[in-house]
Amino acid sequence: MPENKVKKYFSLIEAWAWCEICTEMVDMRVDKDEIKAGLKMGIYTKEHRHVNPHPDPEDVDEVSNQEHSIFIYINDNYDITGVRSFFGDSPSMSEVGAGSIEEGGEVRIPIVVKEVQPMSVQLGMISMDEFKLLKVCDGMNSVEQCAEIAQKPTDKIEKMLEKLRKKGLVKVIKRTSG
Ligand SMILES: [Zn+2]
Repeated sequence: MPENKVKKYFSLIEAWAWCEICTEMVDMRVDKDEIKAGLKMGIYTKEHRHVNPHPDPEDVDEVSNQEHSIFIYINDNYDITGVRSFFGDSPSMSEVGAGSIEEGGEVRIPIVVKEVQPMSVQLGMISMDEFKLLKVCDGMNSVEQCAEIAQKPTDKIEKMLEKLRKKGLVKVIKRTSG
């Protein structure tokens, strides 16, 4: 699949992300101020609802002409660190982690069980990195995908998740892929 691409301008960015449903690049413009404001709260994600502008007329199984969402994670360097495409409000459990793990393997999906306020970081209850990681545990990402979005090695993410789990902030759901 083609690589996601970002062009950075003075006050906005133009992002091209691969939509697995359209099997095409989808482009969107995002205000840098909007990204900065989001990142202050730990993470920035952009959801873009669309239909495929060029559905394949030959393909009887074509579904991309129905409205769906592409959801992109953008970091403080204005780069795309993760992309999800799905119908409805969020990816289904069976779609999470697809492709990040071999078939028959175990997919682990961390999910926040207790909402944490930014104040907790100032109070030293959790670190900023842990706070950011909690934001990625939105149920749309496997442990491996969390590592990708947080741009940290998987074993580091596993250790952080274990700490957060002991604090009662996160639980890890397991299921078999394929
Ligand atoms: Zn699409």
